[in-house]
This record gives sequence, structure tokens and C-alpha cells, in this order.
Amino acid sequence: MVIVKIAAALVGLGLIVLYFVAKRMSRNARRKRLSAAPFPDEWEQIVKKNVPLYNRLPDLLKEQLHGLVNIFIAEKNFEACGGLEMTDEIKVTIAAQAGMLLLNRKTRFFPKLRTILVYPHTYVAKMVSSDGRVTVEGQSVRLGESWQNGPVVLAWNSVIGGTSNITDARNVVLHEFAHQLDQEDGSADGAPILEHRSRYAAWACVLSEEYEALQKKKKARRRSVMSKYGATNPAEFFAVVTETFFEKPRQMQKRHPELYDELKDYYKLDPAEWS
Ligand SMILES: [Zn+2]
Repeated sequence: MVIVKIAAALVGLGLIVLYFVAKRMSRNARRKRLSAAPFPDEWEQIVKKNVPLYNRLPDLLKEQLHGLVNIFIAEKNFEACGGLEMTDEIKVTIAAQAGMLLLNRKTRFFPKLRTILVYPHTYVAKMVSSDGRVTVEGQSVRLGESWQNGPVVLAWNSVIGGTSNITDARNVVLHEFAHQLDQEDGSADGAPILEHRSRYAAWACVLSEEYEALQKKKKARRRSVMSKYGATNPAEFFAVVTETFFEKPRQMQKRHPELYDELKDYYKLDPAEWS
């Protein structure tokens, strides 16, 4: 009788394992198909117009980004809030910038993120959390926010405002999705999951030194390539240096070469070399 029960339990366990293996295989096959699927012309026009950073990308990265946008739009749920009408323009503009952070990397496609809520304008927040689970931009009027196990919330006017100038190092989509990468390991602490364990020591050393330097600059009211908002806490620092890495790569490389190299190694990209 005991042997029958053990056998039944083993069969049950085997079936569960098989289910998850099959699910992963089907997800991988679907992503591979989406990655190779054609990128609609209308979408390319949207990206060219709304995401100037895209126009800087080498052709191979553009092609890779098309696949990432296809997957992102198929897997994530976009919800219009506050009277906004959801359009392909909104989805593609957001997906293309989120996808920039995934280029050239082994990625899990923001695994904790299901939904992107989009408001028409900067919005007044109804909830404030201080328990570290949510990263909120601003006090009551918000440009965007990123929840650890929930949605990314964006204001469409901030999205468009942030993408149109690609040299001001302000880009709310790059910022919020950098928070998503940071939050993937369960804590928003400015340390995303690195490719190798051996990388953490150098990452912690360089980023904490630069973070403290930015705090000092903020206090002394000195100029900085990075937004002083990055001096708020280590999570904001990572989000802000990500914006700077993509939008002011050459200035960052010149003035903060070690920080640039850490981000180059993490993002597997070298934006200073882009035209
Ligand atoms: Zn932030």
C-alpha cells in the first residue's frame, strides 16, 4: 500500500515537472517565432519618429530590437487609464525603449511585469508606499512608477517628452524599466542580477563610490552629467545612470569611465560608439 502511494506521488511529481518543462519549451518556441516575425512598417515608422535613440542603433541591433518589441507587445498587457485611448503608437513607443535594455542580453523579459498602465498626463497618485515595494517618481504628481510585483505606470506625455530629447538623459521609460531589472531579484537596491557572481564586487565598489560622489555634488550644488535625482537612493541611482548611459554615453564615458564600463558590461552595449 505504501509502495503504491509512493509510486502515485512520484508519477504526480513527474507530471508536474513535465508540465513546466512543456510550458517553458512552448514559451521559448513562441518567443523564437515572434523574434523572427516581420516587423510591421507602421511600427517602424512609429519607432523612427518617437524614439530617436532607435535611429542611432547599428542595423543588427535594430533588427534585434524589432524581435524584442514583437515579444514584448505579445506578452505584456497595456491598459489605458484616465481617459486615454490605447493605440499601437503608445505600445510600440514604450516597448521599443523597454527593449533597448534587453538587447544583446540573456533576458527573462521583465518576468514579474504583466501590465503597463498608461495615463494621458502626469497624474496625481492615490497611493503612497514606504515599505520599499514600490518605486515612485515624485511626491503626488507622478511621471511614472515601477512596482516590484505589479505594473509599470507611465504618463504618456512624460514618455513622449522623455524620448524626444535624446541628449538630456531624462527618459521615463528607460528609468522605470531599469527599476524593473533592479527589482527582478526581489529587492530595489540598485543591484540588478549580474551575469556572473564574480561581477558583484566590482559593481558594488564602482556604483557605491559614484553614488556617494553624486550625493556630495548634490550637497555642494555642483554640476553633474547624471541627474541629481540619482542621489535619492541606490535604486534611483541605477535608474538614473541607465538613462545617462543611453542618452549621454560619451559624457559618461569621459567623466565616469569606470561607471560607464560597468554599465557597458551589464547592458552588453556601447552607446558611445553609436552614430
Ligand atoms: Zn525612479
